Amino acid sequence: MSNQNTPEHVKCLIIGSGPAGYTAAIYAARADLNPVLYQGMEPGGQLTTTTEVENYPGYPDGKTGPEMMEDFMNQAKRFKTDIRNGFVTKVNFTGPVHKVWVEDGTEIHADTIIISTGASAKWLGLPSEQKLRMNGGGVSACAVCDGFFYRGQEVAITGGGDTAAEEATYLAKLCTKVHMILRRDEFRASKAMQKRVLNTKNIELHYNNEVQEVLGDQVVEGLRIKNNINGEEKTLAVTGFFVAIGHKPNTDIFKDWLDMDDVGYLKHKPNSTHTNIEGVFVSGDAGDKIYRQAVTAAGTGCMAALDAERYLAAKELI
Ligand code: NDP
Repeated sequence: MSNQNTPEHVKCLIIGSGPAGYTAAIYAARADLNPVLYQGMEPGGQLTTTTEVENYPGYPDGKTGPEMMEDFMNQAKRFKTDIRNGFVTKVNFTGPVHKVWVEDGTEIHADTIIISTGASAKWLGLPSEQKLRMNGGGVSACAVCDGFFYRGQEVAITGGGDTAAEEATYLAKLCTKVHMILRRDEFRASKAMQKRVLNTKNIELHYNNEVQEVLGDQVVEGLRIKNNINGEEKTLAVTGFFVAIGHKPNTDIFKDWLDMDDVGYLKHKPNSTHTNIEGVFVSGDAGDKIYRQAVTAAGTGCMAALDAERYLAAKELI
């Protein structure tokens, strides 16, 4: 640790504690980079708000999201990653040494930074949605993760972009019927994705409709929707509700330094995790708007640690 005048200097600082951050830590620690990892606002990341994870290889019987992240963390600790509670509020990437400030004011200097701050799903913000999301009662923002639990049942999804269109067709293969609720009279999704939805018989479209309430006390029992043109209300008898209205990458603190797209996803050089700043790498959902899976995040976490190690070796810093 540092005193007030001389900030602590580390070889590798990892920001974020989802599958990407912990995997980067495991690889960096085993390469003797002595990584320091700041867990951020939501230790364990998005997986800690999901229930059962059944699609992560190596867990044949499935595992809950929080338990899986505990396993990731323990594996990172086993190789002596310095895992710290706290979140980074400010960075300065002007010089060869990267400066980072934590919320308690601590300043840290690092030769390499691995950003794995993730992304957050956007929610409608209805109290009934949040209640049934937090208790695992059937509200989800990931059809690929949770759709399987609703096979043979009737579900609903809201959103009109590519994600919603892709997830609606995915759900339609598992479920008897999928109600797709769009707030406008048209899709935002690409024509190709729209066509797939329109050609899927068991997807029923509800244009110009907005969700008013998710019904059910412990589990989803239905959805109350309202037509925003004529005010007509309807109840849909569904057992699962998927929200697909976009994600927000947690990258605001980097906007003065790193190239990002208009939503905030960090750009990286092709086939690598290098950002536009030397020694700063991105892994996981902070730089991936397409796949967004735990296993792909872990994969890019590994890549970022290997890129950081090679960068340090080339600069003769290790
Ligand atoms: P988008 O921002 O593209 O779409 C969000 C959708 O949610 C829009 O239809 C929007 O409605 C709707 N929406 C937003 N807020 C609300 C709200 N409060 N209530 C109801 N509806 C709401 O997000 P996506 O996640 O779909 O896509 C993000 C990016 O990722 C896009 O660039 C997309 O092309 C890309 N992508 C690509 C894929 C692929 O290539 N296979 C797969 C998935 C995503 P409105 O249209 O009225 O604004």
